[in-house]
This record gives sequence, structure tokens and C-alpha cells, in this order.
Amino acid sequence: MAKINLLDKSVFELIAAGEVIERPASVIKELVENSIDAGAKHITVEIKNGGSSFMRVTDDGCGIAHDEIPTAFLRHATSKVRTADDLDKILTLGFRGEALASVAAVARVEVLSKEADKQYGSCFKISGGEITAHEQTGCPDGTTIIIRDLFFNVPARQKFLKKDVTEGNQVQGLIDKLALAHPDISFRFIRDNKQVRCTGGDGDYYSAIYAVFGKQLAMSLIPVDYSTGGISVTGYASSPLFTRPNRSMQYFFVNGRYVRSVICLTALEEGYRNSIMTGKFPACVLNITINPELCDVNVSPSKTEVRFADEKQIFDLINFGVKNAILNADNRREIKLEKKLPEPVAEVKAEAVPLAERVEKALETAPQNIYKEKVRETLENSRILEIKEKPVAFHSPVSSYKVNKPQSSFVQQRIAEPEKQPETHRAEPVHPEPVCDEPEENTFKYITDAALRSAEPVPELTAEPEKPELTIIGELFATYILCQCGDDFVMIDKHAAHERINFEKKRTELMTSSQLLAESEFIDLSPEQYSALAENTDKLTDIGVEVILTEGFRCEITACPSAFAGDVKPSELVLRATDLLCAGNENIIGEIYDDLLHSRACKTAVKANDVNHPSELRVIAEEVWNNEKIRFCPHGRPVMVKMTKHEIEKYFSRIV
Ligand code: ADP
Ligand code: MG
Repeated sequence: MAKINLLDKSVFELIAAGEVIERPASVIKELVENSIDAGAKHITVEIKNGGSSFMRVTDDGCGIAHDEIPTAFLRHATSKVRTADDLDKILTLGFRGEALASVAAVARVEVLSKEADKQYGSCFKISGGEITAHEQTGCPDGTTIIIRDLFFNVPARQKFLKKDVTEGNQVQGLIDKLALAHPDISFRFIRDNKQVRCTGGDGDYYSAIYAVFGKQLAMSLIPVDYSTGGISVTGYASSPLFTRPNRSMQYFFVNGRYVRSVICLTALEEGYRNSIMTGKFPACVLNITINPELCDVNVSPSKTEVRFADEKQIFDLINFGVKNAILNADNRREIKLEKKLPEPVAEVKAEAVPLAERVEKALETAPQNIYKEKVRETLENSRILEIKEKPVAFHSPVSSYKVNKPQSSFVQQRIAEPEKQPETHRAEPVHPEPVCDEPEENTFKYITDAALRSAEPVPELTAEPEKPELTIIGELFATYILCQCGDDFVMIDKHAAHERINFEKKRTELMTSSQLLAESEFIDLSPEQYSALAENTDKLTDIGVEVILTEGFRCEITACPSAFAGDVKPSELVLRATDLLCAGNENIIGEIYDDLLHSRACKTAVKANDVNHPSELRVIAEEVWNNEKIRFCPHGRPVMVKMTKHEIEKYFSRIV
């Protein structure tokens, strides 16, 4: 072994810088996050040659005091954390006090900074860790940091830089994420003398999405706004009608910080289960607001990993947030005629306004960091805000919880007394007026884990306004049911609709049907399987499986869901459920039963080209019309499309 040396400061600075500064985008990330922490409302980022030769970040934040600038460039120097306790409640994006020191170790840095209440600003230059200038100067309020010749003293790092265009794209992707997370800040990005991004900074998530991704994607989103247990998720996600071929447009933020989180991704996809086609993915921009003590962002130097104290709570938040958003949105695909039609931009934007107003309000009062205020707001007022604002933001605030009602037993009715069917489905509007005033009532508005499992009917909230009568006009191509509903012309795919109706019915049956086995089945478990099962017997009971755990890691199965008797052996079912529980996956119904439910639902559904009695078609149409959950078949195909009278009249030039 060679002799052990204590490393020289210049060498360990380079090693430490390597952890934080990997490429131009990492420099921009650190500088822009500092600007955000400094309370800036306008941030301009400029780069040349992908950032390797020139980067400049200008903000109108609080500035740095003349005497403190050299300190800011020392490792572990920060104004954001003082004691170890502070690490448990971080609301700033930076806190490790190593970014400026790292940047200064590997580039030539120039700082111009001025505090608003000072007459003069400062000019400070540092190159490869050596200070070369520190003097007073005239400059605007805020801070400008210029970085030249990145890695000029680390040729090995320089070699790993990709082409300028690739590095520039990385920076642009990063600015986009920051702009999406901070709609209250106006971001400008100039790349090789050309402005390529500019966001309004009006506090509206929707405007930020529009500015970053453009009209087409923005128009395909539905609002998400859901709170539970003091945490909330707000933002936008894909309408199931407009999904994407990959996961590249899924953005999650925790208190305004972009994070990569498997929990969030899994919960998002669970939220869309049975609403989108397999192989398609939703897009989303979702911000989770949570008490910072309940999550740890100090996991990696880049601070994009996050650990949650209660992962299940985060999973439920996103899963049910998205499920409710899908139920509350108008998921009827609209037929667009070729003639010029009014664009629904204004409508969608109008929906987003209450949310934006709320964000903006929080920002006005926040002294330096918006999320300080937002978190306080969520913790203290989440309940009140839900009541006041959600009914306005959503089309259908009341009806979403109704999925918990036992589904009407469609098949029996279809065979026994089809004519009576219309009587059982009445006066349940697709778009009821927002009417929730009472806090108690409002709490029923969302589906929750418990509510999903419950087979109990949920109480009615309010008297609902009259709903237009559904008139069946006829059938087209022996496949589509044609209906008139008020001023809407609606076409329903009879197979897709019936398949979904069956699927929902079977799912409810599964959760409520349990049959004692004539003879118990026994299985031997590993200790790990045994304890996973012991902790989760309630999850099995929820789906009609009864087990008794005995000594020697034995499991006696005494009852199974009758809905699937014959399809899955009880022992096989319990073993598969146990494996899922061991892997931390509690979604037993989804993982084990959904495929089975799909194929059963499909087999028992009417098919295209089947000859059906008009009364049968009416039963299907009524069910679709009255149950908001019947909007997509279990494989994600839409069940109905609509065209408004207005559109039709415009097309025939009856109106202009
Ligand atoms: P950290 O952000 O983790 O505190 P940095 O090395 O990024 O560490 O910054 C060190 C300190 O310099 C910050 O804590 C802050 O006080 C100050 N600072 C850096 N950039 C800015 C800026 N744009 N405006 C105001 N203060 C800044
Ligand atoms: Mg920082």
C-alpha cells in the first residue's frame, strides 16, 4: 500500500465538486434554485455552446450582502439551515451549502449582486477556487451569476460532456421542470442568442403548462385537486382520452421540488387502471404539498430523490386524486366537425382560475419562499379550501362518490324486466351544479380507499337538478346506440359499454361475495410470507378470503369469493396475494383479479353485430347515462361520443 496522504484543499474541492456539478445543466439547476430561494419573480437563463463556454443566470431576488459573497463560496456555507433540527423541515430548494463552492472549483465565476436597500452592489470574481476581484459597483437589484469555461481545470470531465445541442437540451428540460413547479415565477431561457422559452409567472399551473408544452398537450389535461390527512396534490393529468406512448411527460413535485419517485409513478398508473389502454401512459404535472417533516429530500446531492415517512399515504393521495379527477372530468369524447368550431380554451382556463388564484394569494403573503405559505395553507385550511373551491373547479363535484353504490344488477334486469329499467335510473345529472356548501357533505365527495371497499350505499348529498330525458333514436351498424339527451346527440358503443358495466358489477360482487369452503384448504408459508399475511388479513377479508393462521407457519383457508369459484384455486389465490404483500404491494384486486374480470366482462357482454331488442339497448344506454364510471371499456376504449346541437346547427349553417 502507498503512504496515506491528507488531500490538498484544491484536490478535495475538485472531488467534492464532481458530486454536484456533472454538466452545464447541473450548474443551471443550482443557480436557478438559489434564485428561487432568494424570492425572485423573474429569472433569466442564458447559455452559449450548450453552456460549456457561457452561462448566465439573472434574478430579481433579495441579493447577497457585499461582505457575505466570499462566504457564500465556501463549502458548507448556507443561509438556509442553522441547526440539525432545521434539516427536518426544509422548505428551500438548497440547504447543503455546497453549490457555489462546487461551481467555483471547476469554472470561472463572476457575480454581480445588490440588495434592494443598498446603494451599491458588488462585483465578485472567482476562478478555480481563487478570488480575483471583490469590489463595489453599480448594478440592478438582485443577483447575476456568470459562469465561463466550465471544467477548464478538469479536462477529464470536459471529455464526458456531450455535444452542445445535447447539453443545451438538458438545460432546457431542466428549465421546463422548474417553470412547471413554479408558475408564480416568470422564466426566460435564451439559447445561443435566441429566446426559446418564456413563461408568464402569473401563478397559474395551467398557463405554465401551456407555455412549456404548448396548446395541444395543455388541452388534453384534466385538473387534479385532492387532499387527505393534511397533504394535498394539485395540478393536471391526462384525460384518459389523450394518453401518450411513454412515461416521458410525467412530472412530480414535492413542495415545488422536482422529484423522481417510484411511489408516485406507481400510484399514477394505478389511478388510471382500467381507464386507459394497456401500453399507453398518462402525462401529468402534479405538485404534492406536504409538511416537510414528513419527507426527506436530503437523500442525494442532486436532491431529486425523496423519501416519504408514510408511502402508503402518498400512494393513496395520488391514486385517488387521479381517480377522482377522471370521474369528475367530462370523459365523453366529442366529435369535431370540420367546420370552424369555437375552441374550448377559455372554458378550460376558467376552470383553472380558482386554483391559480389560490396559489397567487398564498404567494403574495409569502415572505421569501412560496412553499412556506403553501404548506401552512394546506395543513391549516385544506378542509376549508376543499369545500370552497373544489366544486367550482370540477364539472361534477357530487356524483363521483356514487360509484360506491351497489351497481344495479344489470344482467338480471335485462332478462327479467327490461322495460322497468328506466324507472330505476333517473335524475342523476352528468353535470350537476356545484352545490356543496356544508363541510360534512363535502367529505363524501371523493372516493377513498375505505369507500371503494365499502358496499354500503353512500348517502345522497343534495337534491339534484332535473336531468334531460334520454331518448333512444335507434341503432347504427348493429353496434352503436344513438341517443338524444337534451341538447346532446350521443353515440354509445354497445359492446364497450356493456363490457364496462359487467366489469364494475363483477368487481363489486367480488368485494362482497364470500363463500365458506366445504373443506378448508391448508398451505405452508415461509416465515416472511406468514408475517406479511398476519399483518394484512384484513386485505384478504376485503375480497372475501378468510384465513386462520396457525402454528408452524400454516395457513388454513376457510372462505373464498364465490364470484370466482372455479376460476382460481383458493390456495393459489392466497399464495399470489401473499407474494404481493411480501413485495409491499397491497393492490391485490388489481393485480390478481383485473385480468380475470376483464375476460369475464368481455365474454358476457353483447357483441357488435348482435341482434338486440330495443329494450336491451335502452338498459345499456340508461346505465351509461346514469353511471359516470362507465366512460371507458376495461381496456380503455371510449364508451360514448357526443356532438352538441350547437355544433350540428353550425355545421348546417343554421346558426353562425
Ligand atoms: P445553498 O443553496 O445550499 O444554501 P449555495 O452554495 O447554493 O448553498 O449558496 C450559498 C448561499 O449563497 C445561499 O445560502 C444564499 O444565502 C446565497 N445565495 C446564492 N445564490 C443566491 C442568489 N441568487 N440570491 C441571493 N442569495 C444567494
Ligand atoms: Mg443552492
